[in-house]
Amino acid sequence: LGHAQLCDAIAQIVGVANVLSDPQDTERYVVDARRRYFGAALCIARPADTRQVSNVVEVCAKAGVAIVPQGGNTGMCGGATPDPDIPSVVLSLERMNRIRDLDLANGSLTVDAGCRLADVQKAADDVGRLFPLSLGSEGACQIGGNIATNAGGTAVLRYGPMRDLVLGLEAVLPDGRIWNGLRGLRKDNTGYDLKHLMIGSEGTLGVITGAVLKLFARPVTSVTALVAVGSIHGALDLLGEMRRSFGERITTFEVMSKNEYELVLDQNQTLRNPLATHANWFVFLEITDSLAAFDIRTALVEQLANADSSIGVLDAVIAETLSQAEQIWKIRHGVTEANLKAGAAVSHDTSVPVSRIADFVIASEKEIAGRFPDAGVYFVGHAGDGNIHVIAIFPRESYPDEARFSQVAGQVNAIVDEITASLGGSISAEHGIGRSNRVRLAERKDPVELEFMRRIKAMFDPQHLMNPGKVL
Ligand SMILES: Cc1cc2nc3c(=O)[nH]c(=O)nc-3n(C[C@H](O)[C@H](O)[C@H](O)COP(=O)(O)OP(=O)(O)OC[C@H]3O[C@@H](n4cnc5c(N)ncnc54)[C@H](O)[C@@H]3O)c2cc1C
Repeated sequence: LGHAQLCDAIAQIVGVANVLSDPQDTERYVVDARRRYFGAALCIARPADTRQVSNVVEVCAKAGVAIVPQGGNTGMCGGATPDPDIPSVVLSLERMNRIRDLDLANGSLTVDAGCRLADVQKAADDVGRLFPLSLGSEGACQIGGNIATNAGGTAVLRYGPMRDLVLGLEAVLPDGRIWNGLRGLRKDNTGYDLKHLMIGSEGTLGVITGAVLKLFARPVTSVTALVAVGSIHGALDLLGEMRRSFGERITTFEVMSKNEYELVLDQNQTLRNPLATHANWFVFLEITDSLAAFDIRTALVEQLANADSSIGVLDAVIAETLSQAEQIWKIRHGVTEANLKAGAAVSHDTSVPVSRIADFVIASEKEIAGRFPDAGVYFVGHAGDGNIHVIAIFPRESYPDEARFSQVAGQVNAIVDEITASLGGSISAEHGIGRSNRVRLAERKDPVELEFMRRIKAMFDPQHLMNPGKVL
């Protein structure tokens, strides 16, 4: 089939109205969320169900045309943007947004992959349960995208990343076959587990079309606190203490360096600093429980009072109302916007063992600041998961030339990746590889693992048509 004929064939499968090729209509599907990647597609296909996905993939495979699976297009690494040099069809799951089945006794919900995360959370909430994945993009990202990127977010400490929340999957493989693994089992030891290959594969092994998700008890009490501590060591000691006392009730434990905290408050005048004390590090924490009778607030006040002398807690506020809790979280969620305004940023999504976080922070600050005195070195992260974002922000006027800035970014990456490797860490904790981190992955991943990844890719997708140029 020629390209025009292919788009006609796709229109016959999904309906003319669901094939977009006018540049005005396709723009939002071929540019990534952060407007860093600009692609092109022969057309955008918007199938309504798994059978249509299968038929579209099959005609594309026969025509030798690449498929780029796309969810909400909120990904951080350009994984959902088609390469302008490779003839591609973007396969958007946005019309596949049905809740298929609820099995309360099994604690599971079966959904189309195109359901938005916020809608899945709501479907769980409507039946008195919790679907715990929570991201800043939850109003736009889709379950299929969350699975394909093995998304993390703010509740990983308690519930794990997306990988821990999936019981079963349905996917269309690169030759168009449908794999039905929609099993709602918590135990299934029948050989290799294909779903775990699909989770985190970023659209390179197939199109995820449906999933069975785990539901949890809905918390009925929660407490949010903001704590000022003298050092990153103090923050980590506090994490240890909290874990000992509250166990899995700690849902979120985030840290922020002083300069990042001040930057967020400076850049957003609507935010107020609820603490009176100046400190080097700040901890944002949330503790929740599904038992109303458990008085978390009193327990937390006692804990912080004890930690006062042993750990060096300098100051703390515990939100009295929902609105106060929201004010605290607004500071945490203001980071991306504040950094964008502050200058040209090179950000990292590093994870290291929790026990090595302090080493990572100290070494990366020293090395980056030593090499680039004009950079500010900022830290924010999900400390409970060992996921620390180090962000080097340069004055924009120093790097008007994009090529020069990308050279500097490469040098910062090399510094951070070297430190990460020395601490047994990973260059991508939750954002994935996509297009942005392919070279770094090739440089840093164990060669045996890389070889097996390439072989697995070739076995699933011998024509290399499923999201080419991503991950590997
Ligand atoms: C404001 C904001 C906050 C964010 N916060 C977080 C965060 O805290 N933690 C985090 O992990 N991420 C975060 N992200 C990144 C992003 O939201 C997640 O990676 C999300 O999981 C992507 O879902 P999506 O549906 O938008 O996928 P897309 O961006 O559409 O796609 C991402 C990748 O998945 C593939 N893909 C998408 N759907 C399918 C499918 N059905 N089958 C196969 N492959 C598919 C694509 O090909 C691509 O490679 C954030 C993004 C924004 C904009």
